[in-house]
Amino acid sequence: MPDSLLVDAHQDLAWNILTFNRDYTIAAAETRRREQGTLAPQHNGDTLLGWPDYQRGRVAVVFSTLYVAPARHSLGEWDMQFYSTSEEAHSLYSLQVDAYHRLVDEHPAQFRLIEKRADLQSVLAHWQRADTAEHPVGLVILMEGAEGVREPAELEEWYQRGVRIIGPAWAGTRFCGGTHEPGPLTPEGYALLEHMAEFNLTLDISHMDEKAALQALDFYPGPVIASHANALSMVKGSDSNRHLTDRLIQGVVERGGTIGVVPSNGFLRPGWKETGGRASVTLDYVVAQMDYICQMAGNALHVGLGSDFDGGFGLQSVPIEIDTIADLRKIIPLLAQKGYTEADIAAILGGNWLTCLQNNLPEVL
Ligand SMILES: [Zn+2]
Repeated sequence: MPDSLLVDAHQDLAWNILTFNRDYTIAAAETRRREQGTLAPQHNGDTLLGWPDYQRGRVAVVFSTLYVAPARHSLGEWDMQFYSTSEEAHSLYSLQVDAYHRLVDEHPAQFRLIEKRADLQSVLAHWQRADTAEHPVGLVILMEGAEGVREPAELEEWYQRGVRIIGPAWAGTRFCGGTHEPGPLTPEGYALLEHMAEFNLTLDISHMDEKAALQALDFYPGPVIASHANALSMVKGSDSNRHLTDRLIQGVVERGGTIGVVPSNGFLRPGWKETGGRASVTLDYVVAQMDYICQMAGNALHVGLGSDFDGGFGLQSVPIEIDTIADLRKIIPLLAQKGYTEADIAAILGGNWLTCLQNNLPEVL
């Protein structure tokens, strides 16, 4: 268990690479030094990510996102990655795919793209090697908010460029209701799901409004996950549709999916800034989220991590025990104290996501 691999199901790496020129081949501490006095930490907090930190944390696989926002949610003049039309969205999402291809081409010892089962096997085999302490981090491309898909038939292009997981919503999209913008699946949303099924793409219901997500759970025949979402019942004082209702948790569990718990203070303890600050949010909140989902499932096979680190927040907004992604391993003793077995903990840390990938990645391209 001390050497169990960690899988993180949500990181907006390309957005940071293109917005702040962040270099994820170096340590988070080094990026923080370089960014002192720049706008990056002001806008996105101090980074929590970097390749040496992935090594220390034994983070073998990351679901790396394509993320751009609609213009109505632009973060300010510095934010260049927003769109007004699906044409613009398509261009921006394309630049982010290119950024991942560049990253793996230029740094093959550090990052590798996972497009098929053999890619996953080769990354995992490397992490088992005893003759080296340096292992490649596998990236699975996740498209968050599908507005870059101009029409469903275009999915083949995205699939060929490596996209394996799609979340139709962020805010509301033309496909369905989303965060703070409730609504059902639209006819275009149903068409998107039909085409996704042809490629056995994984559906990510994170950010989907409950109504749309329930419709999708009924309709979509392919694999379903929630890459980064917490249980609403455990986010005291929140009624946000960004979190998962019990019905949705049950739905994902019934479909054999996994839910990635988000260790971000605002998603764990709303109001934390005003009442106690960072010191008041501990990893116990993360473990409580995980335990809630496990209790509902009746086992530890449907929960994992979806950190969303560097996704609009950084060091300043995560539980007090965390300095970088490597510190997520500190949940291991906390889960053990709650009675979770070594096998349970290995599953939660990364095993459940690996099962999702093994079951659903294509055998051949
Ligand atoms: Zn998100």
